[in-house]
Amino acid sequence: MSVQLGMPQPREDAGAALPSVPGARPADAPAGLADRYGRRATDMRISLTDKCNLRCTYCMPAEGLEWLAKQAVMSAEEIVRIVRIGVEQLGVRELRLTGGEPLVRHDLVDIIASLCSNHPELPISMTTNGVGLAKKAAALKAAGLTRINVSLDSLHEETFTKLTRRPFLDQVLAGVDAAWAAGLGPVKLNAVLMRGINDAEAPSLLAWALDRGYELRFIEQMPLDADHGWTRRNMITAAEIRSLLSGDFVLSPDPRARDGAPAERFEVRRRAAGSDSGPLLGTVGIIASVTEPFCSDCRRTRITAEGKIMSCLFSREEFDLLGLLRSGASDDALAQRWQDAMWLKPKAHGMDHVGLDAPDFVQPDRSMSAIGG
Ligand code: SAM
Ligand code: SF4
Repeated sequence: MSVQLGMPQPREDAGAALPSVPGARPADAPAGLADRYGRRATDMRISLTDKCNLRCTYCMPAEGLEWLAKQAVMSAEEIVRIVRIGVEQLGVRELRLTGGEPLVRHDLVDIIASLCSNHPELPISMTTNGVGLAKKAAALKAAGLTRINVSLDSLHEETFTKLTRRPFLDQVLAGVDAAWAAGLGPVKLNAVLMRGINDAEAPSLLAWALDRGYELRFIEQMPLDADHGWTRRNMITAAEIRSLLSGDFVLSPDPRARDGAPAERFEVRRRAAGSDSGPLLGTVGIIASVTEPFCSDCRRTRITAEGKIMSCLFSREEFDLLGLLRSGASDDALAQRWQDAMWLKPKAHGMDHVGLDAPDFVQPDRSMSAIGG
């Protein structure tokens, strides 16, 4: 079902008198969401809400965060308009819906249907914690969602509950199965390993995913938790993840081009006595944002739930797109604000000191759920 969402009418002159971003994107800058270092963002991540029904220790505090007021969050119409400007004027070629938890938005299916009807060729994926997904997977697929990533850090009830502070493992597993059954494949699973909590589970999590045809990706824990508990020494590095997996599996670099993807992919074979070349079981991804950063090839642009442009997860500067939109700005003025903001994208995220003795990174003010991971 395609739902037509009404669009606010822009005032012709609006935006002209608003201050532009300091930093002077030159008039002869390349088209689209280019930056000073020769990169161009084509992969858009938009956060649909800051709210969430889990409290993952590496992301949210136990008591939750102070949620944004309803009117501060982008409406469905505003989301659809911002995406349209990104796609039609600025070269966005991929869209990921995220949060907070996107499934808590009651109008999620309508948003996807509108996006899909406006941009039938645009791949639209979503990152979710999977709570409540079982009931919605078929509707999401019917609305036009292309792919899904479900976060799953443990298959053990107790560990899952310890990590997420909620006893919803069964719901998440049912959601993963429902997504697969609805045709939202390839289903990708995201896992963050925490030392002494679920790191020993890495090989069994991978075996479980491979058995079912899901693509597991391990994400290095980043200093984006609201509790500020991250330390360089305590995080599980990509090198450690490879080593944890190497007892049971042989990993070899996936020959397919990485093409700007955050995950480095490996082909996986089971380690058999006397042989390293069992049949190919599938692939595993490792997102090594801290120890093996990929900033030089970053193609992402982010919009937070309250419509702020973030050129990097670790940006300390944000630029208000929603306020400008609500002031009645034209599409061209909004596109220009977005381009100006992206022009200032930092060269690298600042965590890329290598070695465990490097100084700890100064954590940005926003935690992951408030940015949109
Ligand atoms: N709530 C949804 C979910 O959990 O999938 C979407 C938003 S969540 C912020 C997006 C992804 O960020 C999840 O896969 C989560 O595991 C990851 N994440 C959250 N905090 C993180 C951190 N400090 N370091 C690395 N990944 C993190
Ligand atoms: Fe919620 Fe996702 Fe953050 Fe977990 S990682 S608290 S599910 S936003």
